[in-house]
Amino acid sequence: MNRTNGGPDGGGAAAGRDAVVGTGTGAGTGATIGAGAAGRAGGNGATAGVNLLGLRSHNTALVLDLLRTAGAEGISRLELAERTGLTPQAVSKITARLRADGLAADAGRRASTGGKPRTVLRLVPEAGHAVGVHLDRDELRAVLVDLDGTVVGERTAPLDLGAGAEAVLTRVAGAVEGLWGERGGKPRGAPAEPGRPVEPGAPGAPGAPRGGAAVGGRRRLSPLGVGIALPGPLDHARGVLHRVTGFPEWDGFPLRDALARRLGVPVVVDKDTNAAALGLAVGGEGGSFAYLHLGTGLGAGLVIGGSVHRGPRTGAGEFGHQVLQLDGPRCGCGDRGCVEALCLDAVARGETSEAARVLGTGAANLVGLLDIDRVLLGGRIVEAAPETFVRGVREVLEARARRTGDTPVPVRIASGGGEEGRRGSGQLVAEGAAQSVLAPLFGRGDG
Ligand SMILES: [Zn+2]
Repeated sequence: MNRTNGGPDGGGAAAGRDAVVGTGTGAGTGATIGAGAAGRAGGNGATAGVNLLGLRSHNTALVLDLLRTAGAEGISRLELAERTGLTPQAVSKITARLRADGLAADAGRRASTGGKPRTVLRLVPEAGHAVGVHLDRDELRAVLVDLDGTVVGERTAPLDLGAGAEAVLTRVAGAVEGLWGERGGKPRGAPAEPGRPVEPGAPGAPGAPRGGAAVGGRRRLSPLGVGIALPGPLDHARGVLHRVTGFPEWDGFPLRDALARRLGVPVVVDKDTNAAALGLAVGGEGGSFAYLHLGTGLGAGLVIGGSVHRGPRTGAGEFGHQVLQLDGPRCGCGDRGCVEALCLDAVARGETSEAARVLGTGAANLVGLLDIDRVLLGGRIVEAAPETFVRGVREVLEARARRTGDTPVPVRIASGGGEEGRRGSGQLVAEGAAQSVLAPLFGRGDG
């Protein structure tokens, strides 16, 4: 079960904490998110969307995560109590508020052993949406997802990450506002039109009855926020970029705050590899793994025990600039013989197998350092020759396992990215970026 440890706090403490959250946020006041809500905290709690971000109590997150995992079938309050360790009273209090906020709804009744049928509850996926944006060096990809992570809108556009902050911000704002606009949302601080409904037949809408999604006809997009994923290094906690390899002009740029001001919604900034790793973890990849992304650069997203490991300075996963060859070719980072430089050089020479062997050597170092359960591969270069890369990396890991006497760590192409991975790792990163907004609601993603 992918949920955080409930810890020693019992139902009494839980109820107390939730009561504070409940009264503090004025549940269901129905106002719309405004420009003033920019920034992560969302503390003024005037809207359903902001309420969601304000609902970050541990126990509410546990309940929301179980509701989401249960899907359309739903889960009873009794099961919620059993599986969270909370008292039935605490669960009732939490679910009452989630229902009042339109986040949970009845999903019918289910027979229970020996007792009368119990009402089961389900998450209302369309009660909240987030945008995820992948800023690659040459392409922008944006997705709009519902609370369940289902993609309900997407856009791609060419991008020059070196075109300067103003040009890139304009591109991002255009894509985000385009996605909101398509779905009837209004991100720019302006209130959405009162009572404007979400189109019932919209793509991605579940077939299940959607009644009760919101109180009093307030069924419209609740803009929760925008997640931006781009090549590192950067500071995830402050949303400030560092010296992105090849784009030194971004060094020190406060991307999160600049975009939050512009869009009027909370913004989260993370490395592309962390976003992909988070998307994979939320999507069901359990345990500990490394996601290695070889595209225009090479990086890693690390998930340790179910949580993305970023490190206190978001410095973890700078895999591409591990030096494998002291006198190797110059790398864009200024050093010599980095895994990234060796890989990209081999690819440029048309020696894909050699690139795979280099990647495998780096992966074997990671396996030795971190004792992870599996290695997942993605990125445009890998996707152009997936069998070659999986085989090459596997061979190096198997050779290592023969030396150490361990079982070889499995390697495969990262699944996900919508439609069983067919749209590739760009989609995986964009969807993961949206999860960086959503995952904290479900008690996930903070590593
Ligand atoms: Zn380097």
